[in-house]
Formats: sequence, C-alpha cells, structure tokens
Amino acid sequence: MRLPPRPTPATSRAKPSATLDTPLARLFRLRPKVAQGLKRLNLTTARDLLYHFPSRYEHLCAFKRIGEVQDREEVVVFGVVTNLKVGKTFRTQKPVAEAVVKDGSGSIRARWFHQPYMAKILQEGQVVKLSGVVYGTGAKRYLANPDVEPTTIAPEEVHHSLFSAQEIASEGYLAIYPETKGVSSLWLRAAVRSVLQRVPPSELPDPIPESVRERYRLPDLSRAFRWAHQPRSDKQAHAARKRFAFEEIFSLQIARAYERRQYQSHPSIRVTTDWSAVASFMRDRFPFAPTRAQVRAAREIHADLTSPRPMLRLLEGDVGSGKTAVAAAAIFATVTAPRSSNRYAPLQAAYMAPTEILARQQFASLCELFAHLPLRVGLITSSGAWVFPSKTNPTQPTRVSKPQLVRWVKEGSVGVVVGTHALIETQVQFAELALVVIDEQHRFGTAQRKALARKDAIVPHLLSMSATPIPRTLALTFYGDLDLSILDELPPGRQNPVTKVVAPAKRAQVYQEVKRELSAGRQAYVICPRITAPDTQNALALQARSVEEEARRLKESVFTEWRIGVLHGKMSAKEKDAVMQDFLAHRIDILVTTTVVEVGVNVPNATVMIIESAERFGLAQLHQLRGRIQRSTHQAFCYCFAESWGAATRKRLAIFAKTADGFSLAQADLILRGAGDLSGARQSGFSDIGMEALKNIKLVSAARKEAYALVAADPTLSRHPLLAARARAQLARVHYE
Ligand code: ADP
Ligand code: MG
Repeated sequence: MRLPPRPTPATSRAKPSATLDTPLARLFRLRPKVAQGLKRLNLTTARDLLYHFPSRYEHLCAFKRIGEVQDREEVVVFGVVTNLKVGKTFRTQKPVAEAVVKDGSGSIRARWFHQPYMAKILQEGQVVKLSGVVYGTGAKRYLANPDVEPTTIAPEEVHHSLFSAQEIASEGYLAIYPETKGVSSLWLRAAVRSVLQRVPPSELPDPIPESVRERYRLPDLSRAFRWAHQPRSDKQAHAARKRFAFEEIFSLQIARAYERRQYQSHPSIRVTTDWSAVASFMRDRFPFAPTRAQVRAAREIHADLTSPRPMLRLLEGDVGSGKTAVAAAAIFATVTAPRSSNRYAPLQAAYMAPTEILARQQFASLCELFAHLPLRVGLITSSGAWVFPSKTNPTQPTRVSKPQLVRWVKEGSVGVVVGTHALIETQVQFAELALVVIDEQHRFGTAQRKALARKDAIVPHLLSMSATPIPRTLALTFYGDLDLSILDELPPGRQNPVTKVVAPAKRAQVYQEVKRELSAGRQAYVICPRITAPDTQNALALQARSVEEEARRLKESVFTEWRIGVLHGKMSAKEKDAVMQDFLAHRIDILVTTTVVEVGVNVPNATVMIIESAERFGLAQLHQLRGRIQRSTHQAFCYCFAESWGAATRKRLAIFAKTADGFSLAQADLILRGAGDLSGARQSGFSDIGMEALKNIKLVSAARKEAYALVAADPTLSRHPLLAARARAQLARVHYE
C-alpha cells in the first residue's frame, strides 16, 4: 500500500519559528499533489491551516496494536478488513464468517461462529474497530465473535501512523478533517502539530478581548487550537468549537456594527412630515384598512425618518403581509415633507425592485396611491423608462427616453423613481435623495444596497424589505446592521391555503379538483423547476419537470379546454410582461412557470398552485411560492408532487403542508437541514462551525451584544486592530443571498 504523503519541514535543520501569516509553502516542503490539494481546500497560511477544523473525531479508547495481542487477552483493535469469506467449522461443520484484519504491526483473523451474515455486513478494505477475546498464538491467533464497529478512518492510517505513539498525542481522540486528494487527515494532523510547535504563543494574540472570553468562559486562542485539533476529551473539543463559533459571529457582528456606525456618522435629510398626515394617507388612500402591524411598522419608520440620523431598517413580513403599503407610507412622508422656502422640488425617494415584473407592478400601485399629489413618478428598467402622469392622459403613465427621465430626476422634478438594477447601472443622480426602499432585499447584495446609498456627505434613509422569513439568529447575524420592523399579521380574511402532498397515483384526482376551481372562475399556477427538458440521458436530471413539456402535456391531455400560458426567465421582459398582463386580466387560466413568480407577483384571483418536483425546493422557497395564491379571500389550494418519494422528502413536505407560518418553516429548515442548506445561507461565507452556531440563539445574541458594546466604546476599532482586520476580511466574504 502506498503511504500518504507526510509534511516534511522545509529545512532539515532546527525548525524556524513561524507566525500565523507564514505561508505553508515556507513551513513545509510541499509535493505538487499536496500543494494542489491545499489550494483546493483554500489553505495558504498557518492561520488557514489552524482554522481548518476537524469535521469530527474518532475516539480510540485503549486499543492494542494487532502485533502485540496475547492469547486469552480481551482487546480492542483497529484494522483493515481483508479476505472476507464464509466457511464451515472444522469438526461440527457449523457456518462461520471469517476475515483477516490488519494494522501496521500485524494481522489477526476474526471469526464469527453461527453468524455467516457478518461476511455481508463487513466490507473489504474498510477500517473497523473490533473488541473481543484473542485465542491462540502466532499465525493461529483469532478473535472469537468480536463486536464490530465501522469507522471513518482511512485504511492507510491504520497501516502506520495511527499506531505511532506520537500521532495519538490526543490520547485517543483522532481528528478527522475535511480532506481532498493529496491532503489527508493524516497529513493535516501532522502539519497542525508541527505548526503548533513552531508558532510561539506570542504570535497567537487573541482577537477576542479577555474580558469577553471570561464572561462566556471561552478558552484563549492558543488553548482553543489545541483543544480543537488535539482534544483529550469531548468537553475540550466542544469548548473549542464554541469558542471559534463565537469568534466568527462576534467578528461579523463587529463588522456590521462598525458599518452601521460609519453609515450613521453621515447626516441624512430630516423628513419633517407629521405622523397625522401619514396616518390619514394610510386611512384614505389605501383600498383597505391597514393592519395594526402595518401601522406599527409605518410609525417606526416615520420616527426614523424624522430623526437626523439615517435610517437603517429592515421590514420583514411574510409574503402577502402588505409591505408595499408600508413602503408607500414612507415614500409619502418623504415626498410630501415640508420644504424650506427656497426649495420647491420634493424630497426624492427611490424604490428598487428585484425583477422587472415587480418593478412595473409597484410602479402601477404607487402611481395610483399618489395620483392625488402634484408629484411625478418614474420607472426605469433595462427595457425603458416611463413617467406618470402623462401630459395628454393624466391618469396614465407615458413612455419617455431614459436620458429624459434621468434629467428630470437630476433636476428633482420627478419625486419617486421605481427601478430594477438599471437604477444603479444607469447611475441615476438625484437632486435630493432622502429615502431608498429596497424590496426583497435578500436579492441584492450588500454592495448593491450601498451603491445606491453611497452618495457624498448626506446619505439617504434606507428601508430594506424582505419576505424571506429567516430565523431570528440568521436575521441578527446577516442583517445585524439593521433595525427590525416585523409584519406579523396578515390582512384580515385571508385563509391559509389547503396544502396537500400528493402521491403520484392521485394525480388524476388533483386535476379534477383543479378543474372545479377553474370552473368556479379561479386561476392556477403550475410550477416546474426547469424551463426545458434537459439535453441529457442523466436520469436524475430528467426527473425534474420542465415548463415547456409540462405545458404541452397539460394542454394536450389534461386541461384541453382551458387557456394555458407559459412564463420563465429566458423570455424577454416584453414577453414576460405580456403574459403577466394576460394572466392578471384572466385571459389565461393556467400559468405554467418556473420560480420567476416566486417574488412578489400579485394576481389575487389565482388561488390554485401545483408544484411539480417539489422535493427540489427548500421549505422557505416552497413557502414563497405558496404565498402567490394567498392574496385574496377565496380559499386557496396548493398541491405538491414529488418525483422522488423518499422518507426525507416526505417528511419535509409534510412539514410544509402543515405549517402556514414562514418563520416556523424557516426554523424547521434550519433544524432539519442545517444552516448550510438554507437557501441563501449556503454562499454566505461561513465555516461549518459558524453555520452550526446559527442554531444557537443565546450564542448569537451574546456575540451581537458584545460586538455592539465594543464598537460603541471603540468606534474606529483602533484599540482592536486584530478584530478590525478580521471584521474587514469577513465583510468582504459574508453575505446572505
Ligand atoms: P408583500 O408583503 O408580500 O409585499 P403586498 O404588499 O404585495 O405584500 O400585499 C399583498 C396584497 O395584500 C396586495 O394585494 C395588497 O393590496 C393587499 N393588502 C395589503 N395590506 C392589506 C390590508 N391591510 N388589508 C387588505 N389587503 C391588504
Ligand atoms: Mg412585496
């Protein structure tokens, strides 16, 4: 067997000491395979290596090397399984399973009498832990009916190092790392050991202040590295993980707190509109009575707007909770704010929507809500620009050239601008931008959020909105720089959709139920995960239904007398728009679509949804989709089909079916799949340890509290250069999408 590469010191003489910043290539002579492996794992410096934590530990209790076991001794050994077979005992002809188990020191037979199935359970080449009694001596030795436990130890480890005393410095806890070709756990353990010997404690200053460590009983950095990589007990490993989880969340919170302070060190424009004016706007202009939650949120926002400090607020509310109305109230307050005598143009507001469909829809709502004001509203997307009201027809918007709109915005004669990314890309300049609203903010990176708000000395108030009901720990972590307003109440009269997870055999019955609703005048969505059938023989890929095929199939053999439309992201904005208009005007009964309808689309009469290949979507995403049919007082129905029907899928979909509240679903997703699988959190730049910690509200709250206290006491972070550096690095990396 080929031995895995081991780290060789770069110089053979006395080992030079190192710091955390020393490149691994300077510390070790790296063979090309190893160098490539390290690159894949993103490990460049000693610091990277020490922060590459084990994914788990194998507990090696008092085991023996196979070469040293004695007759009649009760032992635990580890070895590679070979020569598996089933035979008969010599005299009695009873069935017996046999294997030869080897480690670097020797081999021994294991025999399981009357248990021929053992041969099936075991696998050649697997490393197992055997406990049992030894019989015989020399080549005849065997373990009789030993207990077997499979392990995750790599075979080559058993062959040598596992059994060298030095390797098991950790007294029986063997660190198992995320590995890659060329860089095994074995290599990593040896490299970590060497680095820990060579980096003197003076080179391990702790980014977490001592007082904070003491308050939460966190081990210091040097000790925590040892405990993480070479624990002597579960407790040590656990304490180390907790410390690094805290460190990660703490430094991110520092970054957020710092950002917030930076932003708020700029002045913003005070919006001095009376609350009573906003309240009567909400009462008189909305076609409905606002919910208590909407009024509360609008009030919180109003309080922010009237203060000289720029607002940084997140409005979180489940789909359909009515965030648009709250945003409209904020915009109303801004554009009607009293001006000083020499200013005639209104203060301006920008509204960023994630998609073109949504931008148009919000533009239309705002035009209607502000129709009574002497105010011009603009829309700018990649396909053009519009302004309301039109000179010739004052109840309608009219198309204008982009440069024209940009000019009007710059001189201040257009008070509200709705737009997509185009708003940033066209670099629209404002005369006096006082408020920026960002809808479905998780769709925009922090960078984009900043790009709009950038602006010189005076910064706008910022209102982010999100329908992604993320668990509190995540909200605190990712949006740690924002104050939170929550719409925890749906408009009255809304009924929760009836959600059914349907077994494949019941498809026909579902179509009957859908036809019943269509006949009653309702409309339906059919959601498919992909646009076209894939050009592949890959069975797994083929399992996901496609919009185009499904639309054809439904037209030909299921809903033959209904009008079917198709919508997906590959269509041009114009085509999409036309289809949405047709659907809204009920010229289409069934809209077969991808998740482009996920965000914000509003067609109240559509109350039926079929989700195909539902197993492909996360719970949060399913919930977003279902939100589309929760926009009226008609009873809504949501049917989920799955292409794979495993226990995990069924369990997840069952939770979806019985849970109506998005926050509980997000929490369930977090527990069920871990933060790593939570839509959005995956690319967030957190380590596994940090992800794990996101389940822990106490830890997250504590880290946040400490971070804000620290930044308040040291606003420039000049007394905490280590934290400043760590926070900066993290800011560049960590975001929630
Ligand atoms: P979201 O929070 O998902 O953005 P919207 O603002 O799009 O929700 O509102 C969803 C629907 O609910 C819209 O049709 C809107 O007109 C309606 N709506 C909003 N607030 C109320 C309310 N207080 N009472 C009744 N309907 C409301
Ligand atoms: Mg919305």
